[in-house]
Amino acid sequence: MAGASGGTTADRQTAHWRYVSQPLSTLSSSLGPVQRCQVMMRVSHVKREKRRFSCIVESGREPSELFFEFSGTEPLTLTKSGNWIVAALLLSCMKLGQNLAVEQPISPLLLRNLETIQEIYKAWIPGHSVIQLAAPLQAQSPGRERVGLLFSRGVDSFYSLLKHDSRISDLIVLHGFEFPWDEDAGFREHLISVRSVADAFNKRLIVVRTNVKDHLEQYTHWDFSHGAALASAALCLEGSISECIVASTCSYAQLHPWGSHPILDPLWSTDSLRFLHDGTEARRIDKLRVIAGNEWAMKHLRACDNPSSSGNCGACEKCLRTMVGLHVIGRLADCSAMPHRIDPRVIRRLHLNEGEATFFREFLSYPIEPPALRRAIWSALRNQRYGLRPTSGRVFDIRSRARRIKDWTRLIGRVFGATGQHNI
Ligand SMILES: [Zn+2]
Repeated sequence: MAGASGGTTADRQTAHWRYVSQPLSTLSSSLGPVQRCQVMMRVSHVKREKRRFSCIVESGREPSELFFEFSGTEPLTLTKSGNWIVAALLLSCMKLGQNLAVEQPISPLLLRNLETIQEIYKAWIPGHSVIQLAAPLQAQSPGRERVGLLFSRGVDSFYSLLKHDSRISDLIVLHGFEFPWDEDAGFREHLISVRSVADAFNKRLIVVRTNVKDHLEQYTHWDFSHGAALASAALCLEGSISECIVASTCSYAQLHPWGSHPILDPLWSTDSLRFLHDGTEARRIDKLRVIAGNEWAMKHLRACDNPSSSGNCGACEKCLRTMVGLHVIGRLADCSAMPHRIDPRVIRRLHLNEGEATFFREFLSYPIEPPALRRAIWSALRNQRYGLRPTSGRVFDIRSRARRIKDWTRLIGRVFGATGQHNI
């Protein structure tokens, strides 16, 4: 026991966790024989400069810097805790099976929740194990009662902005998520639009530039780690905001394991900042109906997955999903932010994953004109369901036809093989 060997050490232990309040230099001797055998991710050179947080992370590879930089029109209060470090590094540690030691104090509430967070990640992502954390505990005093919304100009965050307009005081915009942190051109154009929205809705704008996505993608899939990255950026703002709204990607009918999730996001809450996962009650069509009722949203909506464009390319799955949704409710022509022409052949050729398919499946419960568009959606969904690769649509494309025959042969073989096994 650390307390027994250290004398003045106050420690607490649960099934998976040991929390130690003592200088980090004596930590390795306090962890006991089992923990000493395990590798530890080292966090050093933690700097809290005016508007910049950074630290050096060593995990057996080349040491790398993790940073968050903040800019905005008004002075900001930034956290004195190490909660942001824990949120940013937890998944990497779980993937590597490395314990984590942080010198900065972390929130007792977050500490209690970390066990559940880890159990959820462990159940969802193969190859991730529960790790131990050593850090001093200290509750941060709550800052001003302000509500921040993580805002990307997408369907989900625009919906949450319109829904909670009267409560939201700050829009938090991230440079390093949709747009790479080390490229300015696309983000600068994006920011012009975001500023227009912030001014129109009378919100304070906070811009966060960070390389946390680069760090996490070295170890884990962004589909699962982006929620922790969002939490990490918001946790730097403890003291500036008291609540952070994270807009939901899926409705309750569409939920699946995903980095930002209604059972996960609130668990990142601390004694001074609570997280709200918002919008799960609304399907895509419901959100688009709300957006269609606001001129600023229809002008500045950005659903695109293409970082080279600050607008909407009209060709990626997210653009097409949004265009079809607006078309279904009869408002695509009113949306100046999106291209207006949908080519059913492009929809038919979409290579959807399960998550993307749920949005298109939702559209099929509505009347869709022309019939060719409905057939194209149905065809893309059938391809996704049976693992068929989309065809090019060209009659004389021999390779595409051969690929399709191969896929069908494989599918038929799978069906009859499964039947045969069942009979046996
Ligand atoms: Zn696009």
